[in-house]
Amino acid sequence: MPMSHITEAARRRTFAIISHPDAGKTTLTENLLLAGGAIRAAGEVAARGEARRTKSDWMKIERDRGISVSASVMTFEFDGFMFNLLDTPGHEDFSEDTYRTLTAADCAVMVLDAAKGIEPQTLKLFEVCRMRDIPIVTFINKMDREALEPIALLDEVQDKLQLDTAPLYWPAASGQRFAGMLDLARNQFLQFERRPGEPARIGPATEISGEPESLKANLDPYVFAEMVEGIEMARSLLPEFDPEAFRAGNMTPVVFGSALRYFGVAELLRTLHSYAPAPRAQKAVKKGAEVMISRDDPSVSGFVFKIQANMDPNHRDRVAFLRLCSGEFRRGMRLKTTGGKQLNIHNPLMFMAQDREIAETAYAGDVIGVPNHGQLRVGDSLSENGDIQFGGIPNFAPELLRRARVKDPMKAKHLRKALESLAEEGVTQLFLPAIGSDMIVGAVGQLQFEVMIERMTAEYNLEVMFEQAPYNVARWMASDDPKKLEEFLERNKSATGTDLDGAPVYLAKNAWDVGYAQEKNPGIRFTATKERA
Ligand code: GDP
Repeated sequence: MPMSHITEAARRRTFAIISHPDAGKTTLTENLLLAGGAIRAAGEVAARGEARRTKSDWMKIERDRGISVSASVMTFEFDGFMFNLLDTPGHEDFSEDTYRTLTAADCAVMVLDAAKGIEPQTLKLFEVCRMRDIPIVTFINKMDREALEPIALLDEVQDKLQLDTAPLYWPAASGQRFAGMLDLARNQFLQFERRPGEPARIGPATEISGEPESLKANLDPYVFAEMVEGIEMARSLLPEFDPEAFRAGNMTPVVFGSALRYFGVAELLRTLHSYAPAPRAQKAVKKGAEVMISRDDPSVSGFVFKIQANMDPNHRDRVAFLRLCSGEFRRGMRLKTTGGKQLNIHNPLMFMAQDREIAETAYAGDVIGVPNHGQLRVGDSLSENGDIQFGGIPNFAPELLRRARVKDPMKAKHLRKALESLAEEGVTQLFLPAIGSDMIVGAVGQLQFEVMIERMTAEYNLEVMFEQAPYNVARWMASDDPKKLEEFLERNKSATGTDLDGAPVYLAKNAWDVGYAQEKNPGIRFTATKERA
């Protein structure tokens, strides 16, 4: 009997990993895919016919720099649950992309290096999760190396993130002496087995049941005593795990492990399917009214959180990543944007590890790639009737502004087209000052300009330069009184312009100018984010 869209959605877990570079996100991702059978061995791509391709070599810059520039999604099955892992780029210059990807996740796994605890990038990403009440599972990685005391690590999470911690497991020592961890709920010890020369250990850890006392025989007495003491301390100091508090974003369950040694990986997945929310209801506007769209809603809906170009360098096509929020999507379906655009989705892509496949069906929580020629933008919503608009996908004011120039002045028009097209992908922004013909490109980091130069050459055959712009700060402007805004724009032509959507933007030399303009014009809001209604 085919399962209904309700049971299918209920077995989905859509999550992202947040971490500081080097904490082990890549290693963990590989081993999660391995656990799900999506890849055969860490780093090796399973052959799936002709469609096979390694996503990470679609752009030279990724290879050269060894970073992954674009977020993507990886789907795998484990214990009867479908996991959609949204990959977030690790480099901080791409944080805007990361923020948007997090809006499509129902849960996040926070990976900490057991020797380092909370690091700056972890904190930054955590703030985004908090803003959106995204529940967090903590994975304390690299227990096979000398680690900080577990209680000190939990303390730090509690302290720096204002988040209650509830260990579901407790480790027995770390580094050379790392012996495994006790499953606190089931009172079973998962033994860490060291097998030299074997990078990834597949299969369940050896379980030793019974009261910790019965472990005495199996563990080094010192390690045993330390573990029992740690557990007692945790039980007296920390609250009990409360799944409701976790789902509300106030408490984090903690799993210890070693991604590299495939220890704790299955336990992490079990924690996710046992406690992490199935696709959450999403806020939207329908026919002018605020509504919550439930995953059980029979009508198909979703929103675009990311656009990626040149997945296939031979084609100009783009892929819009659509996070489904309700209904049963079937291949060939016609969906509409609130702006009235219609798309017949004949070739929806599903992403199994590094492979792409055509999806016949997809459900709430799933992410499908919708190939298009530029009709779709980040923040667009798609639904059967074109009457649902999901909110909450922000545009962030860029932190760097540069004037774009092309070596051959005859190609200025061509340049504008190319910049518009890249801005539509949502990674960089394009501003057109009210006076003159400058094209100002905004980005959150220097690296994005380098990526753009590379792409302009490869995809558009344009030799582009980015120069110092006369402005350094961009702010969106809004007012409840359209006349006030109009007057301001009229008076400040040299410091204003429009963004890709034609929305008014204040272009200032520095933050002080913005503060001054705000003070002088209390009726106008100068904002660093633009949320698409
Ligand atoms: P990312 O930057 O967060 O993606 O981190 P990587 O997954 O690339 O890992 C960074 C480094 O830490 C690599 O050299 C990994 O082999 C290593 N590493 C990751 N997980 C573990 C672990 O559990 N134990 C040990 N000993 N090393 C690990």
